[in-house]
Amino acid sequence: MTMIHNEPAPPLRPPAGDAQPMLSGEKSDTQSALIKVAVIVPLAALVAAVPFAWGWGLGWVDIGLAAFFYTLTCLGVTVGFHRYFTHGAFRARRGLRVVLAVVGSMAVQGPVIGWVADHRRHHAYADREGDPHSPWWFGTTPVALVKGFWHAHMGWMFDRAQTNAQRFAPDLLADRDIRRVDRLFPLLTAVTLLAPAVLGGLITMSWWGAVTAFFWASLVRVALLHHVTWSVNSICHMIGDRPFEARDKSANFWPLAIASMGESWHNSHHADPTCARHGVRRGQIDISARIIRIFEMLGWVSKVRWPKPERLARRLKTNEHTADGSVSRTEIERELTRHPEDRWSGDDSRLGQE
Ligand SMILES: [Zn+2]
Ligand SMILES: [Zn+2]
Repeated sequence: MTMIHNEPAPPLRPPAGDAQPMLSGEKSDTQSALIKVAVIVPLAALVAAVPFAWGWGLGWVDIGLAAFFYTLTCLGVTVGFHRYFTHGAFRARRGLRVVLAVVGSMAVQGPVIGWVADHRRHHAYADREGDPHSPWWFGTTPVALVKGFWHAHMGWMFDRAQTNAQRFAPDLLADRDIRRVDRLFPLLTAVTLLAPAVLGGLITMSWWGAVTAFFWASLVRVALLHHVTWSVNSICHMIGDRPFEARDKSANFWPLAIASMGESWHNSHHADPTCARHGVRRGQIDISARIIRIFEMLGWVSKVRWPKPERLARRLKTNEHTADGSVSRTEIERELTRHPEDRWSGDDSRLGQE
């Protein structure tokens, strides 16, 4: 089997025709240190949460606040950072565009422009040299896969090399409002950590209520969403079903469908990256797609790229069989055509990162 690390050195310079290099220098010591703090502090809280959960300071207010901020910031990432800013799956009104950038930033996964640049680079080089977070980087032996899992899950964020936003996100760099939200990332991090504490304190009218809300709805919530999002990069490139042809190892991993709000239908996503719905088959729950549908009905978004059955059918593996061997390509095609939202309201010429 191919060992990725045995292949030639990464193409740090762009192929002919690309004006911009893939990387743009290195992160500073301060940036690296802050990334470590942002990753490790919520993780430590998550680990500590397990023993604390029983009999210590977890009330309904904490659960409610944690669920609210989890849902809000998760959708900021899935609907905003990912489907909208990275892949242009729909058009949004200016107000909503800014709100999506703000709410996504509150997930503490980095500023919007860097997030989008990294993710477009992931699609451009998925599971090949140049992918910022492929679990297949070290090869396919068991030890290499453990290292690869760690790298894809969180290790890649400690790499000093920085994705070149001039090359991968020029559209966002050209937008003054988005540049402003990008610069406000430290402030938005403070807001996302402090807001639950303030609310918890006010609702319970106690300092202790503020402390427990900070622990559960700020730290534990951020950590949980971090790991769900990163699992899409790690687990969903390792384990699951692969009904669609893709040039990479992306897979649909159903156990994460709800927590990731539809993002774990990752093989379908790589097969058709600009599509607004990732759970394209019947029964594949995709909360983010539902939210986009509601936005569309409210008139806040337009030109939504809903799944196009012919297009998806072309990308299905021939004679696809699932684990139980019962689903044929024809059946899947028929099912895609029956889906209530299988219409196409976008135009093909828009920005799409394959
Ligand atoms: Zn992927
Ligand atoms: Zn994507």
